[in-house]
This record gives sequence, C-alpha cells and structure tokens, in this order.
Amino acid sequence: MTLPRPQRLVIATHNPGKLREIEALLAPLGIACVSAAGLGLAEPAETETSFAGNARIKARAAARGAGLPALADDSGLCVEALGGAPGVHTADWAETGQGRDWSLAMRRVEEKLQALGPEASRRAAFHCTLALAFPDGREALFEGTCPGTLVWPPRGARGFGYDPMFVPEGHCETFGEMDPQQKHAISHRARAFAKLLAAWGG
Ligand code: IMP
Repeated sequence: MTLPRPQRLVIATHNPGKLREIEALLAPLGIACVSAAGLGLAEPAETETSFAGNARIKARAAARGAGLPALADDSGLCVEALGGAPGVHTADWAETGQGRDWSLAMRRVEEKLQALGPEASRRAAFHCTLALAFPDGREALFEGTCPGTLVWPPRGARGFGYDPMFVPEGHCETFGEMDPQQKHAISHRARAFAKLLAAWGG
C-alpha cells in the first residue's frame, strides 16, 4: 500500500508527554501537527486487548472526527516477571480516581516485583505501536520495542510516565535522567517512527 506523507496530521493523543515526543520526532519533516485534545475531540475508550487494536481505535476516531489523517501511539511497559503486565493497561495503573499519578504507578510495579522475591527478573520492555489512519479508511501500523531493566528507587525528572524506573539496555541512566535527544535515538517510539518514516520514503 502506498502511504502519502500528509501535510497536516492529527496526533491522536490527550497525553502531553507523548505529544511532546511525537512532535519532536516529526519536527524534521515539516508536517503541521495538531493534537486531538487541541481539536476538542473526545478520547475514545481503549477496548482492545492489544497495543495495535487500541492504536487503531484512537487513529480511526481522530481521522473521522477531524476529517484529516491521524497518527495514534499506543504504548506501554511490559514486565517479564509480571507476565507482560501492565502492558495495554499501563496508563490504568496510574489511575487514582482523580487523575493519574505516575509515582503511584511505578510503586505498584515495584511492589508486585518485590512480592515475587529477590530472584525475580527485573527485565522489561517499552512497546509502541503507531497507527496511521486516513479519513478514507486506509491505515497502517508500525511497531517498536526498547528492552531494558527496572530500577528502584526511580531516578530523574525528565521524560514522562515510567521513565524514571527504566534503564534501557546498554545504558546506565534511566530514561528519566537521559537527555531527551538520547531517548529519541533509542526509544520504542523512535524505533516505530523510523519504520513510519521509511514508509514515507525516508
Ligand atoms: P496509552 O495512552 O494507553 O498508550 O498509555 C501508555 C502509557 O504507557 C503512558 O501513559 C505511559 O505511562 C506509558 N508509556 C508509554 N511510553 C512511555 C515512555 O516513553 N516513557 C514512559 N512511560 C511510557
């Protein structure tokens, strides 16, 4: 399928941390971006059990709502010893009933790991699926994974979400400590974006 590189693109997210990273990754392409939140589009319910399914739901809803091509990112942290949890429920683990608390979410992961005992593997991976949807129904998916290790206590105030407890493979700093450019060179999101850019002809 040929995938035209759009001149205007809706970023189908209401997550400011993700939006910041996606805008930075798209900046060199000169595509005018607007977020679903900025357009006042409602956030669709993520009812699928896979990253791909939920990315598709978000991209389709935004493309339909805005009448423009839309790009959605569904991502999360998969912890080996927890059977891949929190996975597609990564954002839910931060819910307090009054918004999201990422310190709480990281503590939940850590408590579940500690409950498994000191020998439990601390290996984890961030996963990202990008869905690109056009108002005429064409769509495509791109995936990226970044393996690493979970540390405790969390370190660093950069990035967002679970970044302060994740050390990517081959590095010593957490994503929360790293310069954002360094994260953009190796992250799950950057790897999925590299595939999207290749589909757009580089
Ligand atoms: P989604 O909006 O359902 O895709 O939620 C994904 C959640 O995964 C986000 O809210 C973050 O908590 C977490 N997440 C995804 N990507 C990253 C990342 O690059 N760093 C830290 N946390 C991330």
